[in-house]
Amino acid sequence: MSNIKENLQTITASLTNGVKLIAVSKFQAISSLQEAYDAGQRRFGENRVQEMCQKQEFLPKDIEWHFIGHLQKNKIKYIVPFVSCIHSIDSIALLEEVNKEAEKVHRVLPCLLQVHIAQEQSKFGFSVEDCLAYLQSSAWKSLRHIRIDGLMGMATFTDCQEQVRKEFQTLRHCFEKAKKEVFPQDVHFCELSMGMSQDYSIAMEEGSTMVRIGTSLFGVRL
Ligand SMILES: *Cc1c(COP(=O)(O)O)cnc(C)c1O
Repeated sequence: MSNIKENLQTITASLTNGVKLIAVSKFQAISSLQEAYDAGQRRFGENRVQEMCQKQEFLPKDIEWHFIGHLQKNKIKYIVPFVSCIHSIDSIALLEEVNKEAEKVHRVLPCLLQVHIAQEQSKFGFSVEDCLAYLQSSAWKSLRHIRIDGLMGMATFTDCQEQVRKEFQTLRHCFEKAKKEVFPQDVHFCELSMGMSQDYSIAMEEGSTMVRIGTSLFGVRL
């Protein structure tokens, strides 16, 4: 027996007003996504291009697909026609390439810049400094086929809640500084994608607007 419907209700009830749930369905069977869909879930997150494309073909068309994994340049074209938001823009070069592909299909694609806030070594994500410097440079303004809707980040995988909280605060301060100095009049730059199964309560306390939850909703991945 699957508990997806029950889990979804529990998680949804625990969300702060207005916080959006991205159901992270990577490695889950299509039947599990369908179950969440039937229970009312419409936003799904995937981290591999091929998997997202296959699932998108089989599932209802009113689903919002959010891409949350490292995106290789040569695969952008497969998701650009239908993806709702790319959370994981981790370099300027990638953003420019997404812009190019989005132009080909006449879209303006919502994107989030991924900021590296965790202690763990990772190749992916802007540093806080590089993120702010890029936004302040205004170089992105010439990219007419992307829209920067906010920032995304992942905290260190640790039981130390104070550390997780500090990292989320770092991301929020970066977001607020960008909002104030670069996007003061912008109605779209308003998303802060942070929080996973383990830490989404803390993330919401620290200002998250989108939580990306997999395991707590679908159970352990196949
Ligand atoms: C897998 C994943 C999640 C969800 O993680 P859970 O711990 O299963 O909730 C969230 N964000 C990203 C970027 C992921 O890769």
